[in-house]
Amino acid sequence: MLTRLVYASRAAEKIDDALLKSIFERSRANNLEHGITGVLCVYHGGNVFLQALEGSRVAVNALYGDIVRDPRHRDVTLLDYAEIDERRFGGWRMGSVDLGKVNPGSILRYSERAVLDPFSMTGRAALALLEELANSAAISSHE
Ligand code: FAD
Repeated sequence: MLTRLVYASRAAEKIDDALLKSIFERSRANNLEHGITGVLCVYHGGNVFLQALEGSRVAVNALYGDIVRDPRHRDVTLLDYAEIDERRFGGWRMGSVDLGKVNPGSILRYSERAVLDPFSMTGRAALALLEELANSAAISSHE
């Protein structure tokens, strides 16, 4: 049985390349092993993360527990959790989006302002934004 979880968080310190490298390297290795796919959006301007995780209920819950305890970010806030019939981000062990490079119109479609603030978005709107990013090929593999 598959589930999908979407959360937002604030980086504990300024997001830099070393932080992203360590997160993505660990994610790619662990996620493959545990059947997790998803996308991690990084908004440098707001020092904010927005992430979708998909996989078995056991694997997604275990990973979310690790993520909540990770000292590299705070204010980890659950936006959406659902049982799903199929993966939406199945092509990515952990895809990467730099939200600073996304067309502001895409963010404005789902937000009050053209500046990303996932903490003020509904879970449905956050997921819709992530799906639009997947459809618009904004997601990369961050190799
Ligand atoms: P290790 O990588 O060995 O880590 C052991 C412990 O050390 C963990 O508690 C970890 O929180 C902490 N830690 C590791 N590196 C550092 C560091 N540089 N500074 C401070 N503490 C550190 N993991 C995934 O597997 N998949 C994901 O999709 C994923 N997404 C993430 C998204 C974000 C925004 C963040 C901040 C972390 C993410 N992580 C992800 C990492 C996750 O929080 C755990 O660190 C990781 O799953 C633990 O991997 P591990 O068991 O191999 O232990």
